[in-house]
Amino acid sequence: MFVEKLAPEQEHAFDVVIVGGGMVGLTAALGFVKLGLSVAVVEAHKLSLSDVPETPSFDSRSTALSYGSRQILEQLGVWSAMADLVSPISSVHVSQKGSIGLNRISAAEMNRPELGYVAPNQVIGASLLAALANHSLTLLSECQVESYQCGEISSSIRVKHVDSVFELNAKLLVIADGSRSKTAALVGIDYSVESYHQYAVIANVTFQQDHAGVAYERFTKRGPLALLPLKGRHMSLVWTVAEDDIEWYQESTDEEFLSRLQLVFGDRLGRLERVGSRVSYPLKLVQANELYRRGVVVLGNAAHSLHPVAGQGFNLALRGIARVLEGVAIAREKNLEISSPKLLANAVDAHKKDQKITVGLSDQLVKKFSHTSPLLGLLRDVGMVGLNNTALPKQMFTRQTMGQATRQVPLSRYFDEHSQSGGA
Ligand SMILES: Cc1cc2nc3c(=O)[nH]c(=O)nc-3n(C[C@H](O)[C@H](O)[C@H](O)COP(=O)(O)OP(=O)(O)OC[C@H]3O[C@@H](n4cnc5c(N)ncnc54)[C@H](O)[C@@H]3O)c2cc1C
Repeated sequence: MFVEKLAPEQEHAFDVVIVGGGMVGLTAALGFVKLGLSVAVVEAHKLSLSDVPETPSFDSRSTALSYGSRQILEQLGVWSAMADLVSPISSVHVSQKGSIGLNRISAAEMNRPELGYVAPNQVIGASLLAALANHSLTLLSECQVESYQCGEISSSIRVKHVDSVFELNAKLLVIADGSRSKTAALVGIDYSVESYHQYAVIANVTFQQDHAGVAYERFTKRGPLALLPLKGRHMSLVWTVAEDDIEWYQESTDEEFLSRLQLVFGDRLGRLERVGSRVSYPLKLVQANELYRRGVVVLGNAAHSLHPVAGQGFNLALRGIARVLEGVAIAREKNLEISSPKLLANAVDAHKKDQKITVGLSDQLVKKFSHTSPLLGLLRDVGMVGLNNTALPKQMFTRQTMGQATRQVPLSRYFDEHSQSGGA
């Protein structure tokens, strides 16, 4: 990969300009360069190709990846670099504090080697950058988009870096700069925002016993908590807590924190031994009112930022990226503009349907299981037991969260066709 030094105050033309070099922006960039397109990525924070990424997307969190996401990352050629560094999920154990309801979903009953994987975000970032290193890409880091102009067949953005300004022209502008995107606002796209009045507290914890690849989802009166298996006896904790209580979770000592967590989670994995640094995120359901405008698509958190309870945000985003890449690949096969309105609008429509189902699932999970009415508690128990004993809804639920409910896009075919026709 080479990073060009662009001459300021001049217009530079690209097939695709992506605003946001987070998990979604870099994944999309890899897909587009593998299709043989010229790509520029504009990132607000410092992002170097040789260092471990330290942008907000690649912080100390870990991400649960579905089996379907693995298939997308395999086709993009990133998976092999990550495979030894991710932790497989052999089963998911769902329970509710003070309730008889219990669910177990195992890889064996889904006829899969694993249900999913847990990848530290830094591993995802480093693997994406390593894969991008084999291609030509223009990376403008520490840059802010100042303005946007929509042309007949392309979009132009003005980008500022310290005291230099660059004009970038794109046949396709991809907005991937995260929740309530500033770039979407420049384009005139609005958001609907619903606060959950909760925070997610994230930390790595160490148990006395081995987790054996089991991921835990535990619903409590105050909100759900998830423990995802990492290497060794370590687990990644996502603890959803009420807005009013957040101070305690941020300021309590490690001993106090561990002792509350032990009380809520129980002794399934023995004594909790250690907790790493804690980070918290306010939780909101944020959705862009439009995902497509002529020559512009919105992806990832910029399109949909959901509650992390079901670990679906990035998985959903990957399916969106795959659909948009397919739309662009088909447009090229038909000798159309890469931002062909019909093909991109079709791709985005399919993604919107997927988004509606995925958002609904995460949102209902939070609302249904956060309610404290005893009657609803009983119904919840019945529902949870029902899910365990009825093959159909459980399979449907699992297929959706495994990323297997929608058609797999044959990305490799488009990438292979491109490399056979002489591309990079
Ligand atoms: C606590 C928590 C746990 C989660 N767990 C899971 C999980 O287990 N599984 C899952 O699938 N998903 C999970 N998610 C969701 C997942 O993190 C998101 O889907 C993912 O981070 C989206 O990536 P993104 O690149 O779209 O956005 P971001 O990660 O927000 O990245 C946006 C990028 O754009 C840059 N940027 C911002 N503004 C500008 C600008 N104006 N110009 C240029 N660049 C800009 C930022 O610096 C950043 O690099 C979780 C989320 C949270 C909060």
